[in-house]
Amino acid sequence: MVILPIADKPWLPDDCRDLIADLEEPLSEGSFDDIDDRVMALIDDHERHMDDETIGLNAGTNIMNPRASALLSRSLGNRPSLGFPGDKYEMGMQHAEKLEIACESLVKRLFDAPFAEIRVPSGAIANLYCFMATCKAGDAIMAFPGEMGGHVTHHDAGCAGLYGLDVHPVPYDAQRMTIDLERLRADAHRIKPKLITVAGSLCLFPYPVADVRAIADEVGAYVLYDAAHMGGMIAGKRFQDPLKEGAHMMTMSTYKAFGGPPSGLVLSADEGLAAKLDAIAFPGMTANFDLGKTAALLMSVLDLLEYGEAYADTCISNAQALAQALEEKGFTVHGVEGQGHTDSHHLALHAQTLGGGQAAAKRLAEANILLCGIGLPIDPVAGDMNGIRIGTQEITRQGMGADAMAEIARLMARLWLAGESAGAVRRDVIDFRRTYRELVFVR
Ligand SMILES: *Cc1c(COP(=O)(O)O)cnc(C)c1O
Repeated sequence: MVILPIADKPWLPDDCRDLIADLEEPLSEGSFDDIDDRVMALIDDHERHMDDETIGLNAGTNIMNPRASALLSRSLGNRPSLGFPGDKYEMGMQHAEKLEIACESLVKRLFDAPFAEIRVPSGAIANLYCFMATCKAGDAIMAFPGEMGGHVTHHDAGCAGLYGLDVHPVPYDAQRMTIDLERLRADAHRIKPKLITVAGSLCLFPYPVADVRAIADEVGAYVLYDAAHMGGMIAGKRFQDPLKEGAHMMTMSTYKAFGGPPSGLVLSADEGLAAKLDAIAFPGMTANFDLGKTAALLMSVLDLLEYGEAYADTCISNAQALAQALEEKGFTVHGVEGQGHTDSHHLALHAQTLGGGQAAAKRLAEANILLCGIGLPIDPVAGDMNGIRIGTQEITRQGMGADAMAEIARLMARLWLAGESAGAVRRDVIDFRRTYRELVFVR
């Protein structure tokens, strides 16, 4: 066998190829002890950078309760756990299987949901479970398009496409950042989807789930609400309750606003679907589902049961305060006439005058302020995204409030309006970040 350099993979983008070509050898050569030392140093550098020296405004991340994090390294996760509690294939699981029962029960309580599937590796796989439970390859579904924050997992390149689904867009009312229900009804009658998915990676306002359900009922479709980002706010009862409003299923990532381990959940309100999801989880798509993650998830659920409402309140008031402060500084904050900037922990900035969304994000990253570009229903930016997405869940858990939002807006404005260097702003970002040492809203 010829072992080819990673950089020889023909499908790599050029910039990535150059970086990888420079690094593969230095990172993998030397004695095993050298490699070990280098790996440990990289992990330390990464954690210092992300956890101590940067302001984390990326909506798709969070800080886990350290007690939950610690459970990921216990030996629990190495012991496979196949089958229902009480009838495990493996022997010796009589203590561990009780965690599974407790976690499932607490998740149901948190979301006031009839059924919860906790053996779900990620939000992406949670969506795949729902596709498998409701559709066969070749079936049509309708999903939010990219400019509505629709996620790749609902589209051709993601698990929907890989599973063979025929994906059509949910029609969009760009001005109101919501679903165009009249067109949805017409399109659904023509397309006859098996599933209509609601929500995506930017959720400023609730969606009309009950109206979507009524349309779905007319054409015999199921409704899936993708709460990858909104799980934490829904748990805190500060955003819409999709299952109560008529969604058959709700998926989420548990490491975003939820604040737990990198994993997924499916909640459902329908016994037939719950039975299918159960069989998809096992024996379908997992064998060892990682009980260590289940234990960490359980701890995160306790955080949300105890502090979820106050956490969600603060995330949302911080988002509204940050939007206001950024607007006062001269940024254009996305909003909807008569509705304001946001009803969630998300907010979005127009990036046309900032050089594009990802370009602006890279400039902010040089100043240790972390966020990402996003597509918005506004004029495009050639070769880049036209918006910037911000989430307040991480800084909220770090104990930041309204004063901190004003300071973050000032720090961001210095890069563009005052034209300061990233290095100068970075020093102040690190000082600012280090004044917030205690995590809040965690047990
Ligand atoms: C992040 C995200 C996902 C995927 O979640 P993972 O847990 O990272 O796999 C799915 N849907 C939406 C809308 C997302 O934003």
